[in-house]
Parts: sequence; structure tokens; C-alpha cells
Amino acid sequence: MCILDYMKARFNGKCQSCGGDIHKGKEIARNTDDIWVHKHCVEELVDLP
Ligand SMILES: [Zn+2]
Repeated sequence: MCILDYMKARFNGKCQSCGGDIHKGKEIARNTDDIWVHKHCVEELVDLP
């Protein structure tokens, strides 16, 4: 899994990685499954050994 794209959330949503809320204005990333998650959630997954 890698980051395809990231941006600031334009609306509130839910992170499919950690299940937490994504608030408007927060940095989010789109993963290879075309799902928006927190930017830090994607990075954590990428950093797994
Ligand atoms: Zn998350």
C-alpha cells in the first residue's frame, strides 16, 4: 500500500484504517484501494517492517 495522493479534507468523514473521524481541514491520503484515510494512518502502514 502506498500513498497515491493527499490533500486536506473538504468535508468530515471516517478513516477506514483506524475507524476514527476525519475532520474538515485535516490532512488525508488516498491509498491504493482508492479509500481516503488519515495521512498518518497511511504512513504508519507504509512504515511496517
Ligand atoms: Zn486514521
